[in-house]
Amino acid sequence: VTRRIAGEGSSAWDIHFRAQERVAAGEDVVILSVGDPDFATPAPIVETACAELRAGATHYADHRGEPELQQVLAARHSARVGVATEPEQVVVVAGAQCGLYVAAQCLLNPGDEIIVPEPMYVTYEAFLQATGARVVNVPLQPEQHFNLDPAAIAAKVTDRTRAILINSPHNPTGAAVDADTWRVLAELCQQHDLWLITDEVYADLMFEGEHFHPAQLPGMRERTVTVSSLSKSHAMTGWRLGWVIGPREFARHAGNLTLCMLYGSPAFVQRAAVTALTSELPELEAMHQVYRRRRDLMVARVASMPGIRCHTPAGGMFMMLDIRALGVSAETFAARLLDEFGVSVLVGEAFGPSARGHVRASFCVSEEELEKACTRLEACARAFLAE
Ligand code: PMP
Ligand code: GLN
Repeated sequence: VTRRIAGEGSSAWDIHFRAQERVAAGEDVVILSVGDPDFATPAPIVETACAELRAGATHYADHRGEPELQQVLAARHSARVGVATEPEQVVVVAGAQCGLYVAAQCLLNPGDEIIVPEPMYVTYEAFLQATGARVVNVPLQPEQHFNLDPAAIAAKVTDRTRAILINSPHNPTGAAVDADTWRVLAELCQQHDLWLITDEVYADLMFEGEHFHPAQLPGMRERTVTVSSLSKSHAMTGWRLGWVIGPREFARHAGNLTLCMLYGSPAFVQRAAVTALTSELPELEAMHQVYRRRRDLMVARVASMPGIRCHTPAGGMFMMLDIRALGVSAETFAARLLDEFGVSVLVGEAFGPSARGHVRASFCVSEEELEKACTRLEACARAFLAE
């Protein structure tokens, strides 16, 4: 086996798998350890997939994406960034995770450096290392609500830096990059001739303002690769439908890679994706409002908990709980929270050292379940404080 494929970050999920086993065994456990929407995929999308399956869409599709889906995605991207995007610039992949892998393989050479703020999503280290490039982390500070400081990124640029990877809204912190910060990052990219990879899987789940697409900035469309998917926005995590959008030469490489890696995404899934992106789906806005209510509920409840603090997430489906005042490690806290109180969360360090003393909670359960989880969180905090 190769050393490049090693740090999959899979151990981060051990606690989540334990929680799932307990639920399967009939125990009353509230799972806040995963970001997987608890909503059904909207019916018209499912209907299209079923109809297409019956109609025989069961053979190889175009390996770069079916032309109709490429077209829909290009038009949508053009509208969002205000710059014309051609269908040839879009490559359909198996979820944003695959898109990130493709982007990294197409942009990074062994020995290159890529700058990534940390904490970062658990798979980042592994898919970046698989290219032979070096990951240069920039710590995000809990005291600054994990907001990005572009000066800290600028300080890490060397003559080996090839790209910057930004995820906004952010998993695990819920922080969102504002327009001014994007502008500074864009200048930095142009000054040092860097690629910008933007992971936008939570872009449609903003609670404060709108997501800012960096490809709209002057001089950025030729150096920005946008990675996204239907996983979170349309409650479609299991469909594995995502895309990468970038300059033509990048897209040509990305298409070649999908040819040898995937040989295309399933045709019936791609056609369902066209329905997802072209239909009026009122359930999407309803879902958005539910996430917002859950976020508000969590923030309000945590505010009155002894020993736990949080910041209000600007977007996404996660928040960080700062448990440093309890004087125990996040691992100890998370283990007891699951074992004695029946709530699962992920340990902050799984996302990077700057999240030490924090745990990540998702809000992919009903408000009733969230209330229950908050009562248990508080009881767990009190138990540690009483020791
Ligand atoms: N990026 C981030 C930040 C994520 O949290 C996830 C997981 N949802 C992904 C990428 C991968 O998403 P997908 O399900 O589309 O592969
Ligand atoms: N991105 C989601 C999370 O961070 C789901 C990842 C997964 O299921 N592996 O929880």
